[in-house]
Amino acid sequence: MYEVQRAVLGPIATNGYVVWHPDSLDAVLVDPGPGPGLLLHHARSVQVQAILITHAHWDHIAGLAEVAGTYAVPILIHALEQDWLTDPALNRSSVNPALSGGPVTGPAATGLVADGEQLSFGRLTLTVAHLPGHSPGHVAYLGPDEAFSGDLLFETGVGRTDIPGGDSDTLLRSLGRFRTLAQGKRIHPGHGRPFTIGQHEPTPPVGGPLR
Ligand SMILES: [Zn+2]
Ligand SMILES: [Zn+2]
Repeated sequence: MYEVQRAVLGPIATNGYVVWHPDSLDAVLVDPGPGPGLLLHHARSVQVQAILITHAHWDHIAGLAEVAGTYAVPILIHALEQDWLTDPALNRSSVNPALSGGPVTGPAATGLVADGEQLSFGRLTLTVAHLPGHSPGHVAYLGPDEAFSGDLLFETGVGRTDIPGGDSDTLLRSLGRFRTLAQGKRIHPGHGRPFTIGQHEPTPPVGGPLR
């Protein structure tokens, strides 16, 4: 089992994660949200080797510039949201700048991930699952005992599909696939507490703040 430390970041409480192998301290950061100081603090004694993005809504990437300024490591995202990292309209930071803290314009990705791909950082290995619906290029990252689900699935519900690029039928298909892939694993979502699938049945998509 990998070690996981969560940092709740920004105005809509986005979860950023430090994930590391307990023996080697090989580590990645997942979703550096706004004001990532706590995330960087949690990572101070591990070996950060990459920054992984589940999807490029601003609340998951607004801390990327600061984190990338600290760690010169690959920034990885699915191809369908590569452009979102540098486009405030696509990452929705221009929609409500008072909330987002202004336009999020980068940095750009340095590499792409694809469905089924196995990512290895020293002894830390995560598998990519492309699970669109909340957004077109949304991915989850799965370890042997843990899954980082982004805004696909939360403890008390599922991701929104009413934001441009969202689609509820696609989300339902992704949820079905994710429930199989993540069976028995600890789920670390983009918002809220960790949980295990089966603890709670997901409810239909609902509106609310972007998440
Ligand atoms: Zn979110
Ligand atoms: Zn989102």
